Amino acid sequence: MSFPYEAPVSQSLFDRASEVTPGGVNSPVRAFRAVGGTPRFMVSGAGPYLTDADGREYVDLVCSWGPMILGHSHPEVIAAVQEAVARGTSFGTPGSGEVELAEEIVARIEPVEQVRLVSSGTEATMSAIRLARGFTGRAKVVKFAGCYHGHVDALLAAAGSGVATFGLPDTPGVTGAQAGDTIVLPYNDIEAVRAAFAAHPGEIACVITEASPGNMGVVPPLPGFNQGLKDACAENGALFISDEVMTGFRVSKAGWYGIDGVTPDLMTFGKVMGGGFPAAAFGGRADVMAHLAPVGPVYQAGTLSGNPVATAAGVAQLRLLDDAAYAKVDAVSAEVRGLVTAALAKEGVAHRVQAAGSMFTVFFTDAEVTDYDAARTQELFRFTAFFHSMLSQGVYLPPSAFESWFLSTAHDAAAVERIAAALPAAARAAAGATA
Ligand code: PLP
Repeated sequence: MSFPYEAPVSQSLFDRASEVTPGGVNSPVRAFRAVGGTPRFMVSGAGPYLTDADGREYVDLVCSWGPMILGHSHPEVIAAVQEAVARGTSFGTPGSGEVELAEEIVARIEPVEQVRLVSSGTEATMSAIRLARGFTGRAKVVKFAGCYHGHVDALLAAAGSGVATFGLPDTPGVTGAQAGDTIVLPYNDIEAVRAAFAAHPGEIACVITEASPGNMGVVPPLPGFNQGLKDACAENGALFISDEVMTGFRVSKAGWYGIDGVTPDLMTFGKVMGGGFPAAAFGGRADVMAHLAPVGPVYQAGTLSGNPVATAAGVAQLRLLDDAAYAKVDAVSAEVRGLVTAALAKEGVAHRVQAAGSMFTVFFTDAEVTDYDAARTQELFRFTAFFHSMLSQGVYLPPSAFESWFLSTAHDAAAVERIAAALPAAARAAAGATA
């Protein structure tokens, strides 16, 4: 498709970036490959808005892929960061900020008796899996197609449908050995999970799932699915790991756990808990966490783990996230979902909006999406047209149809009004798009 608007400064930055960085980006989805066009290089963020290098302002519906739940540059978070920075940026020793952040997490999420801080969601899931293997003395890991847990070797295996397909690495650089102990199952299929346990008695260390997936677009667990996972794990001596890197502290005070109440053995967190800085965590049952070094034999470490600036940002952000804050994000999310649906329906565009708390995805299909195969049946060309129309009108959506949209407490009536104003033309663009 052609792009009727230009972003010359972003384009020149992208050209320079492409010379020195593969694909011009440090995380693939930022390159706009799924939608085409020039990735916008952002220079500042304030509340619900981002400003790019060409001086254009956008209503931000990505929120840094989740973390910025209070909007950009929240004054209290910035103040906490400035205060922390002034005291020094890294000590390589224990510090009070990491105690406060850990206490905040443990206080909010009942199943988390102990927590270990790391620097990214990838580290959190990698470490949780190592711990589950160390604790159980077993090798195999069950994951679900369409669930993303970071770029952990053992978890970069997806598979076609099938009851118990052994993971084949889906990226070069991950060896068959690294993915060979991964069993990939269709999401929301509890029978497939039971069959895998039956086929591999005493071999499965853990089942890891996104608490409510957002990485194939938002595909909530069917009623009873997470409880079924928990029960199957308990019956078979495996650990149930709920990955709340995306949902944690975003969809409620206690994340998805706060909504469905299913108690995992281990949980992983990131994004919101870092207040826009690299901070993540894994935690859960104290008897399992006791297997971690230095108390136990399972090794795990990090030079910048519990970094004082990151923990100060995380603590400041979490302390501002009270019930009223979540109610506000929920309300604005419902409002935007309603506006999108109305605009697309008016133009007769087949679509389905699926939500998990305030996270949601607009799928360009009218069929219910319960797994990755279903997500892939949507009309991607319509999303592309919709995306570019919104972008040209100053609304920044995730540059892929398989992502969640994120809102914040800062998305006020003025921001919603800008979204509403852009939707009719975007819906017409989607309606008129051809494959
Ligand atoms: N787990 C989930 C559910 C995620 O959504 C992500 C990132 O999007 C990760 C893990 C990996 O986190 P990070 O990008 O911080 O490594």
